[in-house]
Amino acid sequence: MPSGTAQHGTGRTPTHPQPSNSSGVDSTIAQPIVIPPSEHGISDADISGGALKVLETLTDAGHGAYLVGGGVRDLLLGLKPKDFDVATAATPETVRSLFRSCRLIGRRFRLAHVRMGREIIEVATFRAGSDTSAGDPDHQRVDGRIVRDNVYGTLEEDAWRRDFTANCLYYDHRERTVIDFTGGYADARERRLRVIGSAAERYREDPVRMLRAVRFAGKLGFDIESGTSDAIHDLAPLIEDMPPARLYEEVFKLFMAGAARANYELLRRYGLFGHLFPETGACIEAEPDGVAATLAGRALDSTDARIASGRPVTPGFLFAALLWEPVLRDSEACIARGMPHLRAWDAAGADVIERQVQHVSLPRRFSLMVREIWGLQPRLVNRRGHGAASRLLAHPRFRAAYDFLLLRAESGEDVAEHARWWTRIQEADDGERRSMPEDRRAPKRRRRRRRGRAAARPEPTGQPAM
Ligand code: ATP
Ligand code: MG
Repeated sequence: MPSGTAQHGTGRTPTHPQPSNSSGVDSTIAQPIVIPPSEHGISDADISGGALKVLETLTDAGHGAYLVGGGVRDLLLGLKPKDFDVATAATPETVRSLFRSCRLIGRRFRLAHVRMGREIIEVATFRAGSDTSAGDPDHQRVDGRIVRDNVYGTLEEDAWRRDFTANCLYYDHRERTVIDFTGGYADARERRLRVIGSAAERYREDPVRMLRAVRFAGKLGFDIESGTSDAIHDLAPLIEDMPPARLYEEVFKLFMAGAARANYELLRRYGLFGHLFPETGACIEAEPDGVAATLAGRALDSTDARIASGRPVTPGFLFAALLWEPVLRDSEACIARGMPHLRAWDAAGADVIERQVQHVSLPRRFSLMVREIWGLQPRLVNRRGHGAASRLLAHPRFRAAYDFLLLRAESGEDVAEHARWWTRIQEADDGERRSMPEDRRAPKRRRRRRRGRAAARPEPTGQPAM
C-alpha cells in the first residue's frame, strides 16, 4: 500500500478522478483505487525474477517500490511485457548503493539501470509534479517544455506527472494490489488511451508524448480519447524542437517493434510524420500514390512481417526506403545542373542523409548502411559480366541491396527484370551462372512503368554512365 493515502477499494470500475489543476498535480483530491488480485489477475509468476528481486531489495531496505508503466499495463492486457519499470521512494544514489550492478543514467531525467543477470530494470525515483517543483533548479522549463525533471516527490505526485492513465498503474508486490490514481484501470480495460491532465499542456511540456500516444495506440490497438488526440493536430510542429537523438529512439520504437505500419498510418493521420521525415512527408503529400508512399508502405509491412517471423530487421534498410524518393529527386536536380550521374547520385545520398539527421538522428553504422544500399543499386542494374556479379554476390551488403531492389520492383519501379536476374543467379550453380545472359545495361532513357511525375524522371540506377 502507498503510505497513508491509498484506500483498500473494491476494485470496481473507478470513476475517473481528475486533478484539480491542469498540470495534473494535486494529491489531495483523488484517492487511489486499489484493485485486489482476484480482480486484476496479475501474479508474481508473470513478473520477471529480476524485477521481483529489485522490488524486494528496495522494500526490505525500507523504501516504497512498485512496478509501474508498460509492465503493469501489458500484464493487465494479457500481453508479455518487453521489460519492467520500477518506481521507488529511494533516490538514485540510494538505489545505486543497494545493488551490485547499477548505473545512473540521464541528465534531463535521472534514473538507475539495475542489471539482474541478462535483464536491466529501470528504476526511477518518484518525481514531484511541476507545481511543487516550481523554482527548484532541478526542475527546469524552456517555453513550457520540461528540460530537467529531477525533483523527487511522493507516490501520488509521481502518478500525476506520468503521461497516460494506462501507463500509471502501480503494482504493489507485497499486497499484490494494483493502485490506480488516474482511472487507468478502467481505461486499460476499455482499451482507451487518455493523457493525464490537459493534453495541450502535457504535450507542450514534452512533445515526444505525442509520438508515445501514437505508439501505444498502434501497439495496443487502443482508441485515442478525443481530448488526447485533438491536441496533437495543433501541436505536432513542436516535434521539430526535439533533440534528433531522442526522436531517433522514439522512431526506432515506433518502427522496429512489430507495429510499424499501424504506427505510420497514425503518424500520418495526426500530421506527425512530416515533422519526423520532412522531405519524405512532402513527397507523399505531393503524390499520395507515388514511389515514396508505396515504398514506405511496403518497407514497413516487410519490417513487421520479418519481426513476426523472428527474422532480423535494421533501421538502415527502413531509412533507405523512406528516403529513396528524396534521393531520386536530389540526384535529378544535380544531374540537371550538369553533374555526372554517379557523382550526382553519391552527392544526393550524402546530402539527403545530412538534412534528415537534423530532424531524426541515425547512428553512423546505419547511415553507412543506407549509403551502401543506395550505392549498390546502380551496380545491380548495370550488370557487367560474371566476375562483377560474383563480387557483388560476395558483398557484405548484397542481401540488403538485393532486398531493396525487390522492394523497388514491387513498388512499381522498372527494375523487375533485374530483380529476377539476381534471384535466378543466387539459385543457380556455377555452370548455370556462366550460361546466364550477363550484361543487361539499361537503354539510355529507360522509362518507369509508373505514370505521373516520378515516371517521367530518368532512372538514375539505370544510367550507363554510373
Ligand atoms: P514500453 O512498453 O514501450 O516500455 P512504457 O509505458 O513502459 O512502454 P517507458 O518509456 O518504458 O514506457 O516508460 C515507463 C513509464 O514512465 C511510462 O509508462 C510512463 O508512466 C512514464 N513515462 C515515460 N516517458 C514519459 C514521458 N515522456 N512523460 C511522462 N511519463 C513518462
Ligand atoms: Mg517500459
